[in-house]
Amino acid sequence: MTAERKILLRHADEPYYSPGISSYLAYGGYEGLKKALKRKPEDLRQEVLRSGLRGRGGAGFSCGLKWSLVERKSGKPIYLICNCDESEPGTFKDRQLAHKDPHQVIEGMMIAAYANDVVQAFIYIREEMPLGAKILQRAIEEARAMGFVGGDICHSGYSCDIVVHRGAGAYICGEETGLIESMEGKRPYPRIKPPYFPAVLGLYQCPTIVNNVETLCNIAHIVRMGGEAYAEIGRHGNTGTRIWCVSGKVRNPGYFELETLTMRELLYDLCGGPLPGRKLVGIIPGGASMKILKVDDNFRNRDGRAITFDDIIIDFDGIQAAGSMSGSAGMIVLDDSVNIVEALANIIAFFAHETCGQCTPCREGSYWARKILARMCSGGAREEDVALLYDLAGNIGGRTVCPMGYSITWPVQSYIGKFRDQFEANAKSNTCGVESFAERLIEK
Ligand code: SF4
Repeated sequence: MTAERKILLRHADEPYYSPGISSYLAYGGYEGLKKALKRKPEDLRQEVLRSGLRGRGGAGFSCGLKWSLVERKSGKPIYLICNCDESEPGTFKDRQLAHKDPHQVIEGMMIAAYANDVVQAFIYIREEMPLGAKILQRAIEEARAMGFVGGDICHSGYSCDIVVHRGAGAYICGEETGLIESMEGKRPYPRIKPPYFPAVLGLYQCPTIVNNVETLCNIAHIVRMGGEAYAEIGRHGNTGTRIWCVSGKVRNPGYFELETLTMRELLYDLCGGPLPGRKLVGIIPGGASMKILKVDDNFRNRDGRAITFDDIIIDFDGIQAAGSMSGSAGMIVLDDSVNIVEALANIIAFFAHETCGQCTPCREGSYWARKILARMCSGGAREEDVALLYDLAGNIGGRTVCPMGYSITWPVQSYIGKFRDQFEANAKSNTCGVESFAERLIEK
């Protein structure tokens, strides 16, 4: 029988469990931190490297490698920021972790802080998570009162505090350098890399580690079980579990902590399959900015073998081999009731609204794409608009300061590439029958 492999969410939804420290301590909480404080920081960094843990925020970069790049000889203080700005549409896993098991986040942060000689840690949480901010703040106070946060942690001589910093609610603050600008009290314009790699020039121009909530939650488990044992979970290069958020057109949407499952196991066995009388058409695998995968297409696995949609393995490499990216693990399911042109128009309207405006291709291109899609939905589209939209999207990603340019390029080019007939029919007929929606897309 298909089942989840719960490590991070092992207690979260159980009736016996609460976000308070007593629940966390009753099930072995902070034992990982106590164990870590008896070891040398560089040993812990090696342990995390051996575990193969990849960042759970979006890019999937090796966590151990990220830590190894921190500039430690500059004499400047080192900071740690827990990125709780979860803003990618379709993604809601960090919210669950923050709300339901906040001490797991804090323990992971304190081990990461100790392992990297961090002097001050922060949780950057988006405005739209006011309850999460309160819960985390309360948890920090509980942990501080019991000596797990603050001065002389567990009588080890190591000191580090955590400050909760609330953002104002902008998508781009999920990008680490935009987040850092926001924390410094500025507009969150992402910084150019190089030179502004946070590991060297981050918060206040000091070395800074920015890790996602789920990534940090894994740290305590790695220390408790050991890096090698952790690396046995999942597949080579895709170690550990991952929390997938499934929304859209399935009978049982929600969040699922998975080890190595196929698309069929997730969408049919755990999510119950399509809604009555409907057929699945496609999925957006890792948040709205990722390329769409069409159910009827042929795919490859990471060894190059031909497979069907049902057999795609849901992890970093499996989704990449299939032609997209696992991104933030926010999977949005589309069925044959969905108008694909409208779905794309909705996504592009979001990114046109959230562009920070720093780069011309992203600022102007997203707005232009939104205008074309609005006329495809409401009338006034020309036949050449499909080619125009495809071409203009190709001139955004890779020509901007931050990766958000690809949030226009990838959806537009993959939707048109896989559903061109629907876009052409739309451009010819001048409407997809969603006029009221299209009106919302047109900037007043
Ligand atoms: Fe801002 Fe877009 Fe440029 Fe990113 S790509 S810095 S969001 S304008």
